[in-house]
Amino acid sequence: RNLRKHFPITGGLLGRTVASVRAVDDVSFAVRKGETLGVVGESGCGKSTLAKLLMHLVPPDSGELIFDGLEVGARDGLRLRDLRRNMQMVFQDSASSLNPRMPIEESVAYGPRVHGMGRAQARAHAISLLEQVGLPARLFAGRYPHELSGGQKQRVNIARALALDPRMLILDEAVSALDKSVEAQVLNLLRRLKAEFNLTYLFISHDLHVVQYISDRVMVMYLGEVVEIGPVERIYASATHPYTRALLASQLHADPRARVTEPPITGDPPNPVNPPGGCRFHTRCPFAETICSQTAPALTPLPAASEHVVACHMADPASGHTRAGAQARP
Ligand code: SF4
Ligand code: MG
Repeated sequence: RNLRKHFPITGGLLGRTVASVRAVDDVSFAVRKGETLGVVGESGCGKSTLAKLLMHLVPPDSGELIFDGLEVGARDGLRLRDLRRNMQMVFQDSASSLNPRMPIEESVAYGPRVHGMGRAQARAHAISLLEQVGLPARLFAGRYPHELSGGQKQRVNIARALALDPRMLILDEAVSALDKSVEAQVLNLLRRLKAEFNLTYLFISHDLHVVQYISDRVMVMYLGEVVEIGPVERIYASATHPYTRALLASQLHADPRARVTEPPITGDPPNPVNPPGGCRFHTRCPFAETICSQTAPALTPLPAASEHVVACHMADPASGHTRAGAQARP
């Protein structure tokens, strides 16, 4: 709720704060038990910072994090160590997150050992997890990370993330470094594990095809803010926010089944150090009107009371589409 994280930029002889990167700015959303919420947006939109805030790997400047009804860090709330056990993260860079000098079985057993599990039990647990992610122990348990392919290393990371029996995984570009065929296998593995372990996923990716495949709902971020959230079918068939539409157009235009009529997005996002006032997308938006540079639009359900929320002045509350009168300008 209202999560905010600005990173200060210091300068001058005294190292004073001269500006700040507004990485995550007043972001509120919920991940529902059992769902996969996909998070998309261009690089630098705040996706990874958001993931780190949820894990409390970086503390938020302000805002609240509530896990299963308990506020993290509050008195009588959820303690950080309970949060970290319940919520685990898998990163993109599978190679650097594994200890190169540790056999993978030990890497997987490490977390449970730290949490007090006996050696034999932790070992048996690790072996069973390796089997579950498709790495039979008799072939893989004693191997070191350098003896594994990228896909296999990512399977080890997933096994490691599951070792403390978490309820939620945050997957930050977890398949982005993999070849397409391996990516598909790991995505299917993630789907199967989600059902078997009753997991909830927050799935961050810049790849809209992958997000479409795995998500139940999709959240779109632009320059540290949430601009649209909705069910996956709704977002992909009839996204409303001009940014989402442009993002979809730029990635899906090669697909003849996608009925994309929007011009793809051009140019780079503005600098998050000094984001544009009003709607942050107004410098790139083909529908922008005067109000867009003056007032920030609030996230509003479209149509009213629906699951689909959009932050855009030109969105039509009745139809849930950008107003007919709003003309795209070149
Ligand atoms: Fe474009 Fe205005 Fe909507 Fe922002 S509020 S997305 S600038 S039409
Ligand atoms: Mg990132």
